[in-house]
Amino acid sequence: MAAKDPEKNRRRCVQYLASHREQNRLRCAAYRARDREAASARDREYYRTHKEARRAYGREQYREKGEERRRVTRDWCRAHPCELRAYSSAYRARKRSASGRWWAQDIRTLRVVLGSLCPACGKRRSGSIDHVIPLARGGSNHPTNLQFLCNRCNSSKSTTRKDFRTKEQRQRILRAFQLQLFKDA
Ligand SMILES: [Zn+2]
Repeated sequence: MAAKDPEKNRRRCVQYLASHREQNRLRCAAYRARDREAASARDREYYRTHKEARRAYGREQYREKGEERRRVTRDWCRAHPCELRAYSSAYRARKRSASGRWWAQDIRTLRVVLGSLCPACGKRRSGSIDHVIPLARGGSNHPTNLQFLCNRCNSSKSTTRKDFRTKEQRQRILRAFQLQLFKDA
């Protein structure tokens, strides 16, 4: 059945999105998380089946334009600090056989929920990413196990288990990442 007044429908849709911005954003994040799993499965399969060819290509590229390649890598690292932290966190998690993985865009989602002020001291900016249950104590590397602290509070927390997130924040985070959790299970 054709809509009686498409313009009215469109307006209603715009209004809905404007008044449900946060829910919509979290829903989109969850959708991306689900799709991302499928995408990284395809990537893994590709790397598995093209391992030797890729290595040979990489070696050849380095021989031919080593300095340029190093510069590109350096520039990328400088421009993607959050991605770098995600990789090093994944590396530490892998060494401890911890489950789960977070990505730079998960940090953006968590920032919306957790804000930018350190919840421990309430004074400084929370620039450092902390595992609520430390990896060293069997915690996962999943975004639902992350919180933000300032550097000073993070180093005094060390490897103790302390959750500074409110109950409401935890629920919102769970909602945002539940599809991903389901995939991990
Ligand atoms: Zn602090």
